[in-house]
This record gives sequence, structure tokens and C-alpha cells, in this order.
Amino acid sequence: MSQSTWKDQIKKKWGPHSHCPICGKAMPTDKQFCSQNCRDNYHGTQKKQKKKSRIQMIFMFGMMAVVFVFMFLFTG
Ligand SMILES: [Zn+2]
Repeated sequence: MSQSTWKDQIKKKWGPHSHCPICGKAMPTDKQFCSQNCRDNYHGTQKKQKKKSRIQMIFMFGMMAVVFVFMFLFTG
């Protein structure tokens, strides 16, 4: 009995590979991105994400401040 799992089957079919973090395409393991386009995309989104997380943090602190003010007003 030599029933191969689906993982083995995928390995046989595709060989060792990794996936592009941008588009999810299978690509050689020694590459970081499948194409120059995806490389540019990655650096673009990283910049955007940094900006976004900053806004989220400010928003969170703002919310916390509001909550604290309300707690102070209604529990004091
Ligand atoms: Zn890609």
C-alpha cells in the first residue's frame, strides 16, 4: 500500500517552490517575487501599510482617550 497524500502529489507535480507574496503565483524558491511588477507592488504596499498602521494607531489612541474621558465623567 503506497497511497500518497495530496501533499506528496503537489510536491511531485510542482517540485520545490514558494509563492509570490503579492499575487500568490508559484515560483522558484530562490526568488522573492515572481516578477519585477510584483516587487514594485510589494514595496508600494509596504509603504502604504506603514502609513495605514500609523493612522490606525492614532485612531486607537484617540478612542482610548475618549473612553477614559467618559469613564472619568460617568464613574467619578
Ligand atoms: Zn507575483
